[in-house]
Amino acid sequence: MDGETVSSFDDQDDNRKSKKFTRDVGTFVMNEKKNRFAFELLVKNQPGAIFVIGQEFAEKNVNILHFAHSDTQSDKAAVFVVGDFSSADCSPEELLEHLKNNTDFVLEAEFAKKAGPVYYSSYLFPLQVDGKRTILFGPANLNGFLYGLRKNLGDGMALSLLYHMGFGIGEYIYNYYIKTKGYTFRNIDKIMEMVNAILVSYGWGKVSNFSLGGNRIIIDVEDLWECEIQKENGDATGSNYFRGILAGFFQRVYEKNVEVKETLCIAKGDDFCQFEVHILD
Ligand SMILES: [Zn+2]
Repeated sequence: MDGETVSSFDDQDDNRKSKKFTRDVGTFVMNEKKNRFAFELLVKNQPGAIFVIGQEFAEKNVNILHFAHSDTQSDKAAVFVVGDFSSADCSPEELLEHLKNNTDFVLEAEFAKKAGPVYYSSYLFPLQVDGKRTILFGPANLNGFLYGLRKNLGDGMALSLLYHMGFGIGEYIYNYYIKTKGYTFRNIDKIMEMVNAILVSYGWGKVSNFSLGGNRIIIDVEDLWECEIQKENGDATGSNYFRGILAGFFQRVYEKNVEVKETLCIAKGDDFCQFEVHILD
């Protein structure tokens, strides 16, 4: 490693760093207030299509709460849109008719499917991120993942298993996103930018700071899901799965054994989780 190099996101853009807006995927919507209605449209994929749909809703004073569309590879796109009709100047049925009559852009229009109180899109499947099949884990999956193993196998075996599952995933992350770019440990800035891009985009957490000195990298992660769930459950175990991911990842980056410790953790009451990666040998 390169002696005393120190890198960090710290001084890059403090204003941008502090901005954080929760993103709702928006295709599974509980209609708790009874005034929300969801529509599924098939529209022509051409400039202005989104504007025209937005205008139909705006003209009837219907606020759009969710808007999602399919990938834009073909000449048609599926659109799922949820509107708030609490101050609407028309009924949902009337808006649906307006949309159907807009034949310059809209090929098909219908109300979205409902399962009990939930609207969902039956068109927008499968889910992809940048063209790659992706799945979402909701609260049942996340809790089951972290606590099911512990309940069935006991903490000792389960936490070790989580670490080693993470380790394998860290190696794959290196292969997918770092090796293919030709980055080496000398490009630690670019590597950490990529790590942050992946964590934020997939909703795992946010790297707020990192520093490199000697044989040690210190990484601060905000809102790490693994520890956030523990915090909600009053459990101060700390990260094993993500810690394993970091170990597998940096072992490949440096082609050396690494040891990763979590030195601060939101599950223990700290403001963020902090990981120390020690490059051994
Ligand atoms: Zn933590």
